Amino acid sequence: MLAKIFKKLNDLLPLRSLKVRIFVIILIVGIIPGIFMRGAIVSNYEEHAVDNRISTVQNQLLVVSNHLLNNNYLVTYQSEELAYRNSRAVIDAELEMISNLYEGRVMIIDSSLKVVKDTYGISEGKTIISEEVIRCLRGENTYNYDQEHGYIEMTTPIVDTSAVDMEGKSNGKIVGVMLTSISNSSIVETMEILNQKSMVIEELMIVVIVALALVLSVVLIRPFSRVTDAINEVKAGYSDEAISVPDYTETAHIVDAFNQLQKQMKVLDDSRQEFVANVSHELKTPMASIKVLADSLLTQENAPAELYREFMEDIVSEIDRENRIITDLLALVKMDKKVQELNIAALNINDLTELILKRLRPIARKRDVEVVFESMRPVVAEVDEVKMTLVMTNLVENSIKYNKEHGWVKVELDADHQFFTFRVSDSGLGIPEDELPHIYERFYRVDKSHSREIGGTGLGLAITKSAVLMHRGSITATSVEGEGSCFTVRIPLTYIGG
Ligand code: ADP
Repeated sequence: MLAKIFKKLNDLLPLRSLKVRIFVIILIVGIIPGIFMRGAIVSNYEEHAVDNRISTVQNQLLVVSNHLLNNNYLVTYQSEELAYRNSRAVIDAELEMISNLYEGRVMIIDSSLKVVKDTYGISEGKTIISEEVIRCLRGENTYNYDQEHGYIEMTTPIVDTSAVDMEGKSNGKIVGVMLTSISNSSIVETMEILNQKSMVIEELMIVVIVALALVLSVVLIRPFSRVTDAINEVKAGYSDEAISVPDYTETAHIVDAFNQLQKQMKVLDDSRQEFVANVSHELKTPMASIKVLADSLLTQENAPAELYREFMEDIVSEIDRENRIITDLLALVKMDKKVQELNIAALNINDLTELILKRLRPIARKRDVEVVFESMRPVVAEVDEVKMTLVMTNLVENSIKYNKEHGWVKVELDADHQFFTFRVSDSGLGIPEDELPHIYERFYRVDKSHSREIGGTGLGLAITKSAVLMHRGSITATSVEGEGSCFTVRIPLTYIGG
């Protein structure tokens, strides 16, 4: 039901708009209590006025009832004696006055339920059997407000206080009842006036509240529009400065989050630009060498065949270099293509390490570097074979490449119940401490010329780190310049997808 109402309302008004919501809420909070208050004031007045009217009439009737008793009205109402007739006329006039004043009817009923006097003159002499009258004779005062027919009916006992009991005390005997009904028309009239006046006030209030709701809904929303404007400005490219809308804590939070996102995007953009610049530079270097070599052959007339051969060999090695860079770049781009590309299978890591070392030993031998392998236990882990081979090969190859003559490389394999550890340490050149944090950056080389000389592209460790992270593992490096380095890779034994 509530959902239906909400949907209907939503069709009429765009309730998803905060501005409209604020407007509606202020309207509801401002107007509904006013309407209830008007109702409460009017009905409260009615209750109060009826009580008041009853007690005023009761008081006047009490005076009349005293007169009645003093003049023995109930006993002598049929007596034709002049004195009685005169005093009866006075009392009748009093009763007449009350019934005129309150637009009502007063009946005097004696203890035998006979109507002694009726200001309407209709029921005199008749016997009235009414619950209220009987209850009143028993000492119970009653009144009844009939709002529908517009009258108040009440009973007032006629109490003879001169009656004395056996011990001589006044026993206040009820000798008759006055049954009175009066009109409520004057109360209704006042109520109508009251209602009209409060309606006018309420209408004024509604106008004020609608105006207030309109103004507030616009003013309160303004900071959010400012946030949108500022973001649009950045989006359109007019500004790339951090935006600030501190009006509300909420807007400040939104703006903070946006600024952080913008900063992140800028870092990403900068690094992409730097990468493109680096790639161009790296690809241009071998090309430049090739061009220099080719040019010098062209400009030399009658160059000897040996020179041609020598330069051609250099050109081929530059082309090889270019090829290596492109291969590495492609490997890196593939790494960036998220996890679904992983080809996970349970693999014997000991066997894999042996195989890689077998492939790399000839290079090590060429440089007179001794490679040793220490395995603490057999390790089987869920990994992507190609990528894990890249990781291991890169690390061991680096340790061989950046080593001294007669140096050594130690490969250790260990595992606990969760991870396996692949550690490569060497007696090589080492890496200066301040350069250590940068070695995983693309194209970063500690000693550019040396790295290039030995065929490095500066991409090996970037590829290695990506592959390790894809396996949800970690890589750390420690190094002492001139003494050697140690790279440790930790990979979970069971692949945790995601
Ligand atoms: P590269 O293709 O030049 O070897 P890498 O990304 O593999 O590029 O390594 C980045 C740089 O880190 C290398 O140029 C080298 O200076 C340094 N480096 C890497 N491994 C070692 C190591 N085991 N010992 C000394 N320096 C190393």
